[in-house]
Amino acid sequence: MQTTKPHAALLASPGMGHFIPVLELGKRLVSEHGFNATVFVVTTDTSLSQSQLLKKSHPIPKLLDIVLLPPVDISTLINPTTGILAQLAIMMRQALPSLRQAISAMKFCPTALIVDIFGTEAFAISEELNMLKYVFITSTAWFLALTIHLPTLDAKVVEEEHVRNHEPLMIPGCSSVRFEDTFEPVLDRNNQMYIEYIRMGVQMPTADGILVNTWQDLEPKTLGALGDKRKLGWVAQAPVYAVGPLVRPVKPGSSSDVLGWLDMQPQQSVVYVSFGSGGTLSAKQTTELAWGLELSEQRFIWVVRPPVEDDAAAAIFKTGHRSDNTPDFLPDGFLTRNQKKGLVVPMWAPQTEILSHPSVGGFLSHCGWNSTLESIVNGLPMIAWPLYAEQGMNATMLTEDIGVAVRLKSTPPVVVSREEIETTIRQVMEDKGDAIRARAKTLKSSAEKALSKGGSSYNSLSYVANDCE
Ligand code: UDP
Repeated sequence: MQTTKPHAALLASPGMGHFIPVLELGKRLVSEHGFNATVFVVTTDTSLSQSQLLKKSHPIPKLLDIVLLPPVDISTLINPTTGILAQLAIMMRQALPSLRQAISAMKFCPTALIVDIFGTEAFAISEELNMLKYVFITSTAWFLALTIHLPTLDAKVVEEEHVRNHEPLMIPGCSSVRFEDTFEPVLDRNNQMYIEYIRMGVQMPTADGILVNTWQDLEPKTLGALGDKRKLGWVAQAPVYAVGPLVRPVKPGSSSDVLGWLDMQPQQSVVYVSFGSGGTLSAKQTTELAWGLELSEQRFIWVVRPPVEDDAAAAIFKTGHRSDNTPDFLPDGFLTRNQKKGLVVPMWAPQTEILSHPSVGGFLSHCGWNSTLESIVNGLPMIAWPLYAEQGMNATMLTEDIGVAVRLKSTPPVVVSREEIETTIRQVMEDKGDAIRARAKTLKSSAEKALSKGGSSYNSLSYVANDCE
């Protein structure tokens, strides 16, 4: 039995980068499209506290419920070489029985199930319970195009041309993916990550629709190819809806030491440095970044995590502080020398509040898609420093296609030197800043237009809502 209001069950995989956009999609369905919504979050012991924190710290509309599913334990199902994509796929698989139980126990069966990319195996539950099924890609349309096109390519193209000979991967009607930007699971066809990724690419087009956290004017060419039967439409099958940018709003009236510090800085003078919810650098790279920031002579906020390395030398960095309270893994005297210009924030910062503050003038980012969108909606130029996953593709799009970033030339595992960091920060904050800031401001308006009533993303979500009625 169903209520008269459409009810969406949304499924988010572990990690803030997935939970945040899925939650924002749920909120938008409730506040603008007449839905009730329940967001189910797959948790692990470590992700549980983050999800609880976010759940508490953000206003949740009355018609939206958040259900944290019991933590899954996959320790016996993986080995030290199991990549993160395969781990997430396994976690989602383990969570399916609790999801099925939770949905079956609801008074009214939801009209639709919307899963993120790691949750496509839950389509079996929506089929069993007679619900519509959608997938929500929390990244770009270009990444979606790669994901659904890859399973159609044969071994020669992927293994020989791309992986061995470093030729770009061609996607009909879209920009090709250069080898340097390639996505790890593509690199080894025998790896479990490849197998899981291909499965997702095959399952996604069987959905009733594919939602993407982008908007028409940001990726017109790729979205055109996804809707064109002669190009990618034949693999997409399911209609593709660009519904973004869905980003976490600034919490009204929020205050913190960081925001207080920002209040005292001149307009557009601060570069914000962060590598997402989990990005870490090596000890050597952390040192180079510290010096690069200092040499750039710009004001900065740096969200710092201890370097992650196995060797004993790195392990001692994690333990203590120097006499001026500078953590061991930063150069001696770093905090004292930079106390007027910089703020070091350990582990986690109120990112959306920081990015919307008028004193911030640029964002040095790993180019995770949420961070990228949060930067664009605030009209900020970026310094692109991709680390892993599809971040290389995002960085290429930001620099070569939409022109809102300057990219650091070295890519991991090559250590980016302090001189390169210094010069690139100066370029964005001083020399080139005005041109790319102007472009970023244009995109900011285009994003606002897409989301407003009658805009392209608003309309896309209305089509989904109509189907669910
Ligand atoms: N985030 C935050 N504070 C931090 C680090 C990250 O609020 O100190 C949020 C950020 O605003 C974004 C998300 O966590 O919404 C990170 O998602 P993204 O896609 O950028 O990167 P990921 O963490 O998935 O690599």
